[in-house]
Amino acid sequence: MKYNRCGKSGLLLPEISLGLWHNFGSVDNFENAESIAVEAFDKGITHFDLANNYGPVPGSAETNFGKILWHNFQGNLRDEIIISTKAGYTMWDGPYGDWGSRKYLLSSLDQSLKRMKVDYVDIFYSHRPDPETPIEETMQALDYAVRSGKALYVGISNYSAEQTRVAVDVLKQLGTPCLIHQAKYSMLERWVENGLLDVLEEKGVGCIAFSPLAQGLLTDKYLNGIPENSRAHNPNGHLKENEVTAERIQKLVQLNEIALNRNQSLAQMALAWLQKDKRITSVLIGASSVRQLNNNIDCLQSLEFTQDELNAIENILS
Ligand code: NDP
Repeated sequence: MKYNRCGKSGLLLPEISLGLWHNFGSVDNFENAESIAVEAFDKGITHFDLANNYGPVPGSAETNFGKILWHNFQGNLRDEIIISTKAGYTMWDGPYGDWGSRKYLLSSLDQSLKRMKVDYVDIFYSHRPDPETPIEETMQALDYAVRSGKALYVGISNYSAEQTRVAVDVLKQLGTPCLIHQAKYSMLERWVENGLLDVLEEKGVGCIAFSPLAQGLLTDKYLNGIPENSRAHNPNGHLKENEVTAERIQKLVQLNEIALNRNQSLAQMALAWLQKDKRITSVLIGASSVRQLNNNIDCLQSLEFTQDELNAIENILS
């Protein structure tokens, strides 16, 4: 594994990180989840990404990760692992379980620590901007999370380029730098190229790309329709069957041909394609099996693209 500096911070993150949004909830097979996490760590993936609401049921991915942590990584290994969690989406009923208030963020962080049975997380995120709460209040909550020893670094997720500029400046004034922005970025979702990556580079903030395989679309999984054993078929999955359109599949088939000519799987090419931009600190994958995880990690063996390959990819995507 290669480790990249996160923005202008002291923290190195693995080129590939593992997210626990799917496949780690109480509805999933625990032994499978455990074997994915253990294999990931053995392959040098030191960074595990969670959020208060990951499951289903919400919270159960953190509970399961706590079990995995203490079964397998206890003792000194806590010092070898970067755990992130977030608050910002609906977590509990009533006025204090959603969005970006100080009340919600700090209570949620306490709950996350209890579920994972850890004293601190490495990175605590505001999961989304809150149009109703002053950005200063949300950032003060992140700053307090660090000052109280419950988080080592802070980050933001799903903030626009302009919101990011303001959030990063407020955090800087508070004395807690913004470490990282977690943004949706893949061959099929390129909004970060329109301003966000420039802001992050200018401010010295890292970027971790989530759903880099577009939830599995950028793999060879859907080339011949929707298989039963897939996120699009799973009622708990966030990829909907109507997102697997004929037009998309046509593009995926063409991309797959380029990948095969590079002796790569489509998933490997999609991950390598993101890593060509040095502003991307890490790609944050999901995996439903150890086999998928290893297939994805093997993208590291072929990260270079010829100009002809890049042009051909652009033609397909445009
Ligand atoms: P991906 O785009 O990497 O999709 C992962 C899914 O694709 C897998 O669960 C699997 O689905 C399929 N897959 C993965 N590898 C392969 C392969 N080699 N061959 C075939 N199929 C494959 O990422 P996710 O959408 O899971 O997101 C990753 C992480 O990003 C999350 O866990 C979370 O930590 C973070 N995230 C953050 C958000 C935010 O708002 N900040 C929002 C969403 C995600 P299948 O079940 O079909 O096998």
